[in-house]
This record gives sequence, structure tokens and C-alpha cells, in this order.
Amino acid sequence: MTYPTEKKYPITQDYGITETTKLRGEEIYSFFDKKHPGIDIALPIGTPVYASLGGIVVSIEYHRGMGKVLRIRTGNLLHIYGHLDSFNKDFGDIVEEGELIARSGDTVSWTAPHLHFEIRDLSVWEVQERPFKPEFKDGLPVQYKKEFEYVCNHNEAIIDLAIKYYGREEGKNQLLENNSFLRDIHSHKPLEIGTKVLII
Ligand SMILES: [Zn+2]
Repeated sequence: MTYPTEKKYPITQDYGITETTKLRGEEIYSFFDKKHPGIDIALPIGTPVYASLGGIVVSIEYHRGMGKVLRIRTGNLLHIYGHLDSFNKDFGDIVEEGELIARSGDTVSWTAPHLHFEIRDLSVWEVQERPFKPEFKDGLPVQYKKEFEYVCNHNEAIIDLAIKYYGREEGKNQLLENNSFLRDIHSHKPLEIGTKVLII
């Protein structure tokens, strides 16, 4: 897993419970039991940001906690790049490790310009337990799995899962290919709670 910037800019807030998360107790931290779920890298606005792992761009949005944010899925892993200035990729794009994805910024940040980088294991059931400490070394993180099973727990249709895990509607083709039982279900009809869907 590659460092998301060319130069190794300093980490100003590490993963886990730090002085800042103790002091601030922001809503986002309390959700993660006062843990900072990622790392903050201090850098000038406009610094190129590169994909730490190859994967699919599954979301690009303006988030009230992380500003302009881009998320990439690699198997069961979701890596998140926050407080960006601009995006170089689109929904559903396939990116290589080390590819330019965005420029860093200062959107919805309470401190100096920085990149919030976070990685989560989507195969873990409890959302709060998903983030883990990123380690930048050769190869994939030990948590990586090529595929994982998603268990529907609220009203989600095939189309919702396509957008959530493949970034665009066309992702439904992959879902149908890997889950033949879905072929008889209308793509906009909510799936039954407890339905297990293989995500690759
Ligand atoms: Zn952060």
C-alpha cells in the first residue's frame, strides 16, 4: 500500500485516540469511540493525491465532516481521501495503485490544510470496528480479501448495491454475474433483509 502523496509529508494526527480526539470529542470521533479513524497528513493545498491501492472509485461527495471526499474500494477494503480540493476521477473509474486521483485541499477542515486518509474493512459487521491503522509497505494489507459477503440489513435494491460497491448502475452486471439468484429480481425492488450478496 503506497503513501498517498509523492513526498512523505508529516502525519499531524495519527490513527486512534490522540490528544485532539480527547479534547474535541467531535461527533465523528464519538461515533468511533473517540478514535481518529484515519491519519492526517499536513500538506499544501493543491498537492497531488495518489491512490494507495488499485480499485474502483465508488464515491465522490461533499461530506459535512470530511469536505470533498473520494472513496475507492479494493475487494473488502475501502480507502477514503478527505478535505480535497478537486477530483481527477469519476464514479466507477478503475484506478491503479499510485495513480493521480485528486488534489488536496482544505474543505471542511478545522485546522491547517491536510489530507485525511482512512482505510476500512467492509467485511467487518460493526461499522465502528471497520477502520484500522494504515501501514504503508509493499503489498496488500493483511485485512485484504478479494471478495466478501454483504448481508442486506435495510431496504436496498440491486441498483443501490451497484452504486455503493461499483460506483455506477452498470455495476449491477457484476452483481448478477456473481450472484445468479439476483437475475430474477427487479433491480429497483428492495431485497429481503438478510439476503447475502457476494461482492467481488
Ligand atoms: Zn482526520
